[in-house]
Amino acid sequence: LLRPQTFPQNGSLLPAKNSLAQLKETGSAFEVEHDCLGKCQGLFAPQLYSQPDAPCIQCLECYGMFSTQTFVMHSHRSPDKRTCHWGFDSAKWHCYVHLSSKYTDTPEGKKMMVILKEMKDKFSK
Ligand SMILES: [Zn+2]
Ligand SMILES: [Zn+2]
Repeated sequence: LLRPQTFPQNGSLLPAKNSLAQLKETGSAFEVEHDCLGKCQGLFAPQLYSQPDAPCIQCLECYGMFSTQTFVMHSHRSPDKRTCHWGFDSAKWHCYVHLSSKYTDTPEGKKMMVILKEMKDKFSK
């Protein structure tokens, strides 16, 4: 397993590109993806999800920070008609965001699945 140590020690000076990647190194952030209105992969940092519209997901392609609702509307690919959802509603982001398939059948995947579910329930009544 290759773990390149490319992140400087002083976290406060890190550009956005690296800050979440560093959170991931500490084991708290994990990768999620959606396939709605296109497709996008991001890094979800549960500790940043302090309110419903808090930016807590970083796009792995442009490194922009998104809230859960804006993330499901964000994509770098043009929409695939076949995966288009009738009645798409970003407020239902919890129906669209799922764990990255790279964690499928891994021990950490089970843990992340639980955390992701907790996050989805956090602000829903
Ligand atoms: Zn979908
Ligand atoms: Zn992006």
